[in-house]
Amino acid sequence: MATRTPHVLIIGAGTGGLCLAHGLRRAGIGVAVYERHRTRADGLLGYRVGIGPTGSRALRDCLPPELFKTYLATCARSPRYFNVLNQKLRHTASFPLRPDSHPVDTERSVARMTLRQVLLTGLTDVVHFDRTFTRYAQHDDGTVTAHFADGTTATGDLLVAADGTHSAVRRQHLPHAVIRDAGTINIATRIPLTEHTRSLLPPTVQRGISLIFGTGGVMGVLHVMEFKWDAHGRLKPDVSPADAALLADWPGLRHDTTRDNINLVVWSTARRFPADVMSRRGAELIQVALDLTANWHPRLRELLSRADPGSALPIRVSTSEPVPAWKSSTVTLLGDAIHTMTPGRGVGANTALRDANLLRRQLILAAADAKTLVQAVADYEAAMLPYGFARVADSLNRSGTNGDDRMYRPVFGRLALLGARGYFRVTSRVPPLRRKFVDDFYTYRGEQD
Ligand SMILES: Cc1cc2nc3c(=O)[nH]c(=O)nc-3n(C[C@H](O)[C@H](O)[C@H](O)COP(=O)(O)OP(=O)(O)OC[C@H]3O[C@@H](n4cnc5c(N)ncnc54)[C@H](O)[C@@H]3O)c2cc1C
Repeated sequence: MATRTPHVLIIGAGTGGLCLAHGLRRAGIGVAVYERHRTRADGLLGYRVGIGPTGSRALRDCLPPELFKTYLATCARSPRYFNVLNQKLRHTASFPLRPDSHPVDTERSVARMTLRQVLLTGLTDVVHFDRTFTRYAQHDDGTVTAHFADGTTATGDLLVAADGTHSAVRRQHLPHAVIRDAGTINIATRIPLTEHTRSLLPPTVQRGISLIFGTGGVMGVLHVMEFKWDAHGRLKPDVSPADAALLADWPGLRHDTTRDNINLVVWSTARRFPADVMSRRGAELIQVALDLTANWHPRLRELLSRADPGSALPIRVSTSEPVPAWKSSTVTLLGDAIHTMTPGRGVGANTALRDANLLRRQLILAAADAKTLVQAVADYEAAMLPYGFARVADSLNRSGTNGDDRMYRPVFGRLALLGARGYFRVTSRVPPLRRKFVDDFYTYRGEQD
């Protein structure tokens, strides 16, 4: 391997790719990011992403300190409760969560669009939009060339696939890797948060993450997302002077159209949806969610009927199968590109960020000549593959994100639902179980494996 600092090509300006780009840049390692979207605000999904300690730790380690503070200032108000509701809006359980006094060891609610705008800050000279990766070629001198749909190319010492679930890099590099349909479909919606829509929700739901276990195998998750800026993008009067100063200097606010909202995602086994659901949008898609939730509380249905039609999105949930270790080289992968997982545990983005941080550490060692570049990649892959696919397996067995879940079976489904509700009811009422549940909620995302 060359003794000069490596130049890293990252395919995909998503969560993991941009975090890695910051980390490498801070370490003085050359980096360029190639993104198929045409602009910084294109193609973003409206849903909320929960960032736990693992994700926040990676962001703290990779981002410039001032930008990490901006990330904290742009998170939505942190959830104070984890609620389990039935379809009639009655609480099965409610677990108080920790206050968000610590920058890392807490659960943060982030809008995907806002996170992307934060991560693009300070990287405009290294992120190239409108560049769709098509294939790569590895050369005898150890370099690798990425080819793009517009006929252009870029050459570097390492190619990192951060191009998500349908990774074109993975298709070429690991053609045997299996990504499969998990058998569930989500309809994600955003309802503008107004005094009226807020009043439709009980107080703990207004301040929490709420999982809805409905009868008939229809599930939902609801988050109230409140930011430090108002409907016009102006800072709210109660924002602290320190946050106000950070946000006033943050160019992302000009590009970010995220406003206070209620995120309501409804999901079920794919069998419950019309065959053409993936091509439906707007009011037609919201109607599918309303049809599925016919026996839900009128307030939940009113929320759905008030959803912004432009925000409604169908998501076919995917998962991946463990890939046996391969011979490491100058092409590697991170995040959904290698270990796509269902949202069952809410850790896909956290794991992509963890990968980025781990790869950053390894590449710093290679840049310092403590090991070769290929050895650094091999050490990263040896650590990443076990925890990545452990998260895939855990996620598949949670919250009915797997279409084969017992919850969706005709008779067993009713029993499975009663079992799940009973588990949460008992756990929330027995103090040692409740404490363990809340500890697990945070430590699961920690780097314990
Ligand atoms: C409904 C839902 C809820 C979720 N909630 C959570 C949660 O609460 N917590 C959590 O941790 N995770 C959550 N996730 C998972 C999380 O969103 C993903 O795991 C995470 O975004 C993966 O990051 P990534 O960097 O690997 O890929 P992405 O963020 O998807 O980025 C990939 C990028 O690559 C680009 N790209 C793709 N192909 C090409 C190409 N050929 N050329 C150039 N660019 C390309 C894409 O445009 C995109 O910008 C959720 C997922 C879903 C579906």
